[in-house]
Amino acid sequence: MIKRILVTGGAGFLGSHLCDRLVAAGHDVLCLDNFFTSQKSNIAHLLGKPNFELIRHDVIHPLYLEVDEIFNLACPAAPGHYQYNPIKTMKTSVMGAINVLGLAKRVKAKVFHASTSEVYGDPEVHPQPESYRGSVNPIGPRACYDEGKRAAETLMFDYHRSNGVDIRVVRIFNTYGPRMHPYDGRVVSNFIRQALRGEDITLYGDGSQTRSFCYVDDLLDGFMAAMAGTDSGPINLGNPGEFTVRELAELVVEISGSSSQIIQSRPLPADDPLQRRPDITRARSHLGWEPRIPLRQGLERTIAWFRSIDMDQYRPPTPNY
Ligand code: NAD
Ligand code: UDP
Repeated sequence: MIKRILVTGGAGFLGSHLCDRLVAAGHDVLCLDNFFTSQKSNIAHLLGKPNFELIRHDVIHPLYLEVDEIFNLACPAAPGHYQYNPIKTMKTSVMGAINVLGLAKRVKAKVFHASTSEVYGDPEVHPQPESYRGSVNPIGPRACYDEGKRAAETLMFDYHRSNGVDIRVVRIFNTYGPRMHPYDGRVVSNFIRQALRGEDITLYGDGSQTRSFCYVDDLLDGFMAAMAGTDSGPINLGNPGEFTVRELAELVVEISGSSSQIIQSRPLPADDPLQRRPDITRARSHLGWEPRIPLRQGLERTIAWFRSIDMDQYRPPTPNY
């Protein structure tokens, strides 16, 4: 059945891949974005399609639309981006959720919400199951994002309990792939950009902190499964393969054939989680989902994409890359 689907943050890294899938499936797609951390090139190929519409709007302001489903992705996601204007980040998460949920309540739309592994903070439980309540510093530099996302989850479940809004909340773990902003400051985009330019690869701290990296196509399969399923969540979506940041650097250098040196450029940033790996038991059993693309293969595809673009055409959204 063809649906009218709103994607907030639809021009971003994940949002643009989501719009691709929804447009290809024949849905009537409304892509809403304020272009804080993205640009039109991500969705330029969709402009002009009869079932794709672009709306420039900021989710902190109310939305008046008629839709059947909403994917709520609008929020800066890279640490440098969300710390650039932390008060705005909190507003985007919280007021964005309120506006999306108000719309959903009014038009009886189903809401998918992109939450994050950051709700677990710097975790003492490893790997992280959904039942873990997290260890977040509420007054640290990452709090605008972590606590904003935690408050958004609260709003999702309160609208669900109080108003019967149909919700799907997923907690996304580090995801990478084509259309990451080359200057977003995230570890995968930084290392690939540095490797392709022959610049030093910048480890923060000694590089022993870990992350689990999911390729974008796998994650999008998880989005589709979650929206089609019946579990309100929260459900972890991520790749349980865990790597140190140093291992990632070595892999990027090897695959790209770069002559870059791996250096320790600065101390570990405040509150930077030391370890992160999703427990995806719930996604496996409730959604029949698990990632398929190993890190090496995903990096090969991502590096090929970074080689294909002109990085100078990308506007650094903040000075913090
Ligand atoms: P991104 O920065 O590429 O995309 C976010 C999009 O939201 C951008 O297009 C940006 O311009 C838009 N946006 C930001 N503030 C807005 C506002 N106030 N109004 C309207 N649009 C606004 O990041 P992404 O990686 O595609 O992340 C998408 C979502 O997934 C975010 O909510 C993020 O928190 C979540 N997430 C992503 C990851 C990941 O690893 N990529 C991990 C956890 C959670
Ligand atoms: N990192 C790094 N060098 C970089 C960028 C990031 O060592 O150039 C580290 C960062 O300190 C963190 C990890 O890589 O430990 C992942 O950082 P990212 O910003 O991608 O996302 P996070 O998972 O911290 O939100």
